[in-house]
Amino acid sequence: MVSAAAKVNLALEILGKRVDGYHEITTVLQAVDLADRLVLEDADVLELRASAPGVPTDGSNLALRAARALGEASGVARGVRITLDKRIPVAAGLGGGSADAAAVLVGLSRLWGLRWPVARLADLAVSLGMDVPFFFRGGAALATGRGERLEPLRGPALALVLVNPRLPASTAEAYGRVTAEMYSDGGRTRALCAALRSRRPLRVAAAVWNALEPALEPGYPITRMKAALLAQGALGAAMSGSGPTVFGVARSFDHARQIRTRLTRGSWACWAVRTLGGPAIRVAAGA
Ligand code: ATP
Repeated sequence: MVSAAAKVNLALEILGKRVDGYHEITTVLQAVDLADRLVLEDADVLELRASAPGVPTDGSNLALRAARALGEASGVARGVRITLDKRIPVAAGLGGGSADAAAVLVGLSRLWGLRWPVARLADLAVSLGMDVPFFFRGGAALATGRGERLEPLRGPALALVLVNPRLPASTAEAYGRVTAEMYSDGGRTRALCAALRSRRPLRVAAAVWNALEPALEPGYPITRMKAALLAQGALGAAMSGSGPTVFGVARSFDHARQIRTRLTRGSWACWAVRTLGGPAIRVAAGA
């Protein structure tokens, strides 16, 4: 069994638009302990079974794309049966698809006995999605460029509450709605990095920031979810990635659980999570 943990973006800024059409971003990624579980079994063909509705099981699934890409790049002519227990909400800004892709690369490398250096696996990973390589090392990292240049960071352990309105959001649509007024100079992300270095959760909480929040359509209750977190005593709150999940920084894990209980409503899903200091991808013994 391989577990694939989600990420939140503690800070995200858009610096401008690049000539290749992508946005230049600067963001701090942080792994958290809400994880999908994947079982990989040797098979003649590539196949995927997923537990949750809304997860594509055809060739567009990032887990299958990762398996195909690794098969082609390594020359291993085997299939694999992937059973995906989906716990990370889909299209939520938590990087679930990318985490699954990273999990398949790590798990299949082991199953197939590949002894690739991490850098070679990371090159393949980035071809599947900008944030896929982040999940190998996990912890906290500063990502720049299109989000693919990574620099590890060390920070305090944090207890967070994730709130999701049970509505999917498209990353492409959010970036499509970015206007020049949303550009900034990276100062907020630098402040977040300094807060992490201080190891003080309160400083981190005060520095969380996501420039993409105004790029979401008004139908998403981003402001209301943040306000609800703060009203319950969260020390700071921001949206993760291209949303619509928001996170709040709690005073402790107990506090995070209290907030989760109070905010879980018919229309919102909530989780109390801890940040992970190490890899987002973990292979269980014997797998
Ligand atoms: P990111 O923050 O990395 O842009 P996200 O966390 O917002 O992405 P994902 O859950 O990765 O979103 O899903 C984005 C889209 O990818 C979904 O609309 C879904 O159809 C597709 N997808 C492909 N493979 C997967 C997978 N294994 N798990 C979830 N979604 C997947």
